[in-house]
Amino acid sequence: MGPGGNSFGDILSGLDDSFLTGPDTSGLEQVSTGDALAAFADHEKEGLCHTVWTFMTPFIGGVCNCDRSDCMAMKSTVVHDVKVMFRAEYVAEVNRDVCTGCRACMRVCQFGALAYSAADQKAVVDQTACYGCGICRSACPHDAMGLRPRAEVPATASLW
Ligand code: SF4
Ligand code: SF4
Repeated sequence: MGPGGNSFGDILSGLDDSFLTGPDTSGLEQVSTGDALAAFADHEKEGLCHTVWTFMTPFIGGVCNCDRSDCMAMKSTVVHDVKVMFRAEYVAEVNRDVCTGCRACMRVCQFGALAYSAADQKAVVDQTACYGCGICRSACPHDAMGLRPRAEVPATASLW
């Protein structure tokens, strides 16, 4: 018997058959890697956040680009504190030497992780709220916003 009382046969019978051959992609349009990356960059410029969805594990069912006003998952996670999303492997970090305090990054953060310090006249990241989506980095006209591996930041290393 497996975990939770299921036999190995029960577990096998619950697997999607297409695991062996991959999902049915007939009828889907294919894009090159370059075109896909360019589309992601365009979406980021619009302030849209990329999210990866598995639907039927282990396949990636879709990569969504949207904002909180349209995304039920983001709304559930951020507004209603019902967490249906994992964070990315990065957290945002401001280069204080370069930041001009223009606040362009604050306008695109979907997760309420950015604030403005009037005392310093700089953007400030609440790294425990940051989901590491990186759209603030795309929005910064001064290249002052970076992404740091989550594992390197003690406060966020085990925060998913
Ligand atoms: S990387 Fe973090 S701070 Fe930047 S937009 Fe995404 S959630 Fe907000
Ligand atoms: S967009 Fe860049 S320069 Fe402007 S406040 Fe944000 S980090 Fe600073």
